[in-house]
Amino acid sequence: MEHYQIAVLGGGPGGMNAVKEALHNGLSVVLVEDSQIGGTCLNRGCIPTKALLRSLGAGLDTAAARDKADQIVTMLRTGAEGMLQQCKVPLVRARASVPEPGMVVCSDGTRFTADHIILATGSRPSIPPIEGADLAVAVDSDKFLAGFATLPAEVIIIGGGAIGLEFATACVKAGRKVTVLEALPRILANMDRELSQSVALNLRRCGVACHAGAAVRKIAEEEGKAVVTYTENGKEAACRGDLVLIATGRRAVLPELGFELKTERGAAVTGAACRTSVPGLYAVGDCATGVQLAHKAMAEGTGCVRAICGLPPVKDLSLVPACVFTDPEVATVGLDADGARKAGRQVVVKKAALNTNPRTLMSGSGRGFVKVVADADSGRVLGAQILCDRASDMIDEFTVAIANGLTLADMGKVIRPHPTYVEALNELFE
Ligand code: NAD
Repeated sequence: MEHYQIAVLGGGPGGMNAVKEALHNGLSVVLVEDSQIGGTCLNRGCIPTKALLRSLGAGLDTAAARDKADQIVTMLRTGAEGMLQQCKVPLVRARASVPEPGMVVCSDGTRFTADHIILATGSRPSIPPIEGADLAVAVDSDKFLAGFATLPAEVIIIGGGAIGLEFATACVKAGRKVTVLEALPRILANMDRELSQSVALNLRRCGVACHAGAAVRKIAEEEGKAVVTYTENGKEAACRGDLVLIATGRRAVLPELGFELKTERGAAVTGAACRTSVPGLYAVGDCATGVQLAHKAMAEGTGCVRAICGLPPVKDLSLVPACVFTDPEVATVGLDADGARKAGRQVVVKKAALNTNPRTLMSGSGRGFVKVVADADSGRVLGAQILCDRASDMIDEFTVAIANGLTLADMGKVIRPHPTYVEALNELFE
């Protein structure tokens, strides 16, 4: 039986980064993947959805936008597969199970042992127990994306999280009628309150019917139309559309294990360096506890192998920026004002509106702002929230500041180019 130093189960962003780091450190490594290399992010998530948003914004129709997204995905996947081939990484195209620590058995009959097994098996859409969720008119984000080329006229989206709002943005850019139904009192409920409110206003400005406090109870099909029944402010209401996207969260996927593993809501509980409760077994990305974001998975994949090699960590895995690609974009990192106060911290909050930022005026985008939360005594930056066209790039300044203990005064020292979105930050440090 073959023996490897590292076995990686799952070839998404987390698994691929673990493989690369193992190669970099001269370790023997095997990868098991039963679907396409690239995982959810490349094949069904981040990459195709952002490609769609970009193409639709440039005026392409849904079929052309889908084609363009497919081209980008294929190009990136071919590159990743090429890297594996070039580096002669053994790739088992099968489903892995771990009957005992240190041993992997695959559905094609391949068996091997490994000193360290890294679970990078990702997540899948989780469908809540809503009556009618199994009807043909109701689909998860995988099916919604797969059928995007023939998107019908009226779309109902259940869930006002990142997936629901990014698809709402794509659909509205494609000229479709969109309704978003979110059960919690506000969309993007885990983010800064003001961000939620402003994103809701921007969506409404674009014509999206955005309902918060609207818990969906039932989906039915009547004369080829979907009818979604929900409770809003204690009253029952209903809306009709052609297709229902259920975007109510994702659930971790773990391989079949022949032993007990500590889990929380289906995800492997991990501690320092992505170690699970079982020695020699690690978990990175969506199959582990923590936020479900590709860049978190990538950082964990690399960090996990570095720790196995006895190398010190490079990245602070506790500081994960989050971005939602609405129009304009949302990006956050660290603490928001409510979170800081709940944690009992004395903070200063500074905010700059973007309505006089020249670049924002040129792009004609909706309501936007940049907000920073800093420690009241030291001025150290603790968090930031941005609603702006390039928020997903701009957030990096704050992530660097937090990771390095910079203060508002430190951030104010630099000259920012004009005219840019990022010059809006100057106001925060005056
Ligand atoms: P989510 O948990 O962020 O949002 C799902 C929403 O659905 C919640 O707000 C929940 O209250 C609502 N909901 C649940 N049941 C409902 C019901 N019966 N009626 C109405 N609303 C209901 O999950 P998501 O948006 O599906 O995303 C899944 C994961 O993928 C998240 O962790 C997300 O951060 C990640 N993701 C991130 C990005 C990004 O950062 N750009 C993009 C896509 C996915």
